[in-house]
Parts: sequence; C-alpha cells; structure tokens
Amino acid sequence: MPWSSGAARSAPEASRSICGVTAQPTIGVLAVQGDVREHLYAVEQAGARGTTVRRTSELDAVDALIVPGGESTTMDKLVRAFELRDPLRARLAAGMPAYGSCAGMIMLADRIADARPDQETLGGLDITVRRNAFGRQVDSFEEDLHIRAIGGAPMRAVFIRAPWVEEVGEGVEVMARVEDGPAAGRIVAVRQGPLMATSFHPEVTGDHRFHQLFVEIVRGKA
Ligand code: GLN
Repeated sequence: MPWSSGAARSAPEASRSICGVTAQPTIGVLAVQGDVREHLYAVEQAGARGTTVRRTSELDAVDALIVPGGESTTMDKLVRAFELRDPLRARLAAGMPAYGSCAGMIMLADRIADARPDQETLGGLDITVRRNAFGRQVDSFEEDLHIRAIGGAPMRAVFIRAPWVEEVGEGVEVMARVEDGPAAGRIVAVRQGPLMATSFHPEVTGDHRFHQLFVEIVRGKA
C-alpha cells in the first residue's frame, strides 16, 4: 500500500507541538464508505500523515479530517450507526479543519436542496447543495478548471454524479465554478475558514494541489 498504516505510527499527541500542529499533521479520512484509499494516498503525497477514522478514539487523534467521495445517504446512515455523528459535529464546531469531495461536500453542507426524507449532514459549511445536480445526461464528466486558490495550470476536475452548490452564505469563498456547457457558472468548490469542499474528485487524478492546500490550511499557513 502506498500509505503507512495508522498502527505503525507514533502516538498522535507526539505529532502536535505546544503551539499547534507540526509540519507533518495527521489527517484522518472518514472511512465508513467511499474512496478512502485515494484520499489517504493524496494526503501522504501532500506531506501529511494519513490515517483512517472509524471510531471516536481515532477521531480524537487527528488534526483534521477528509470526508471522501461516495454516497452521502449511506455515509449519513453509517456515521450514525458507528456513533460518530455527534463527535464529528463536535470537532467541526470546535474548528477542526475538514475537506470534503463530492459526497463529502454534501456531508459538510449545512443544507441539502433535495435531501432524502431522513437524510442529515454533519454540517459546518454555510452552503446549500443539490445532490446529483448535473442530471442524467451529464452525470459524469471531466473539465479543466482555472482555480486561483491553487494557482498554476488548470486543474482536471472529475465529476461523478456530483452535487453543485446552489447557495453560499456570506462567509463562504467561491473557489471554482463550472466554465463550460449547460452548467456553466455553477459553484463547484468552496472554502469557509478551515472548511473546504469540492464537487469533483481531486483524489483520483494524481493532481494533489487541493490536498496540498488543505495541508497548508491544517498547518495554519493558508
Ligand atoms: N451522488 C452522490 C451522493 O449523493 C455523490 C457521488 C460522489 O461522491 N461521487 O452522495
């Protein structure tokens, strides 16, 4: 496996300096469902330690969290079944940095436009998302996006039955919008302080600039 296992590492407390997070923070990937290993790999490529989070003790040990792509309705059910929902909400409310891709964006949104009747989110981001927003004809597609916050060349964005952001609150920075086609102008990347979310999946392309930015956010440097 391209990343190291959590068990092989030293105690997470040791990775935190007195004045905060060290140069190599520990970033947990919520591992109840979804593309966990892709995020773990990207996190390690971006210079942080990656570890899975399935229980409260594992959540307590991380500096930050990634909520992966997958299926938000299933993830919602599983975080409740694993009794992780309230601890996750508490850490987010306490300011833990978090990044969500696709289903992870839905999980971090305060509001869903078309939620399943019993679907809840963890919340944190003052946004309204619409699930499967791009419709059946274009439910999966790729596009190059120009994203000032990550700089450099355009980023290849992979959308898979993706949500878009329908509304943003005042404190939310829009990082990227769809640039072409019928959905042009739709918001697909946002940041609100230590919280960030993308409709697309940077973890599957080998371009780790979003994960690098997230690591900088966790270090308190971005
Ligand atoms: N459509 C999924 C959902 O609603 C998200 C898809 C994805 O993460 N690729 O959760």
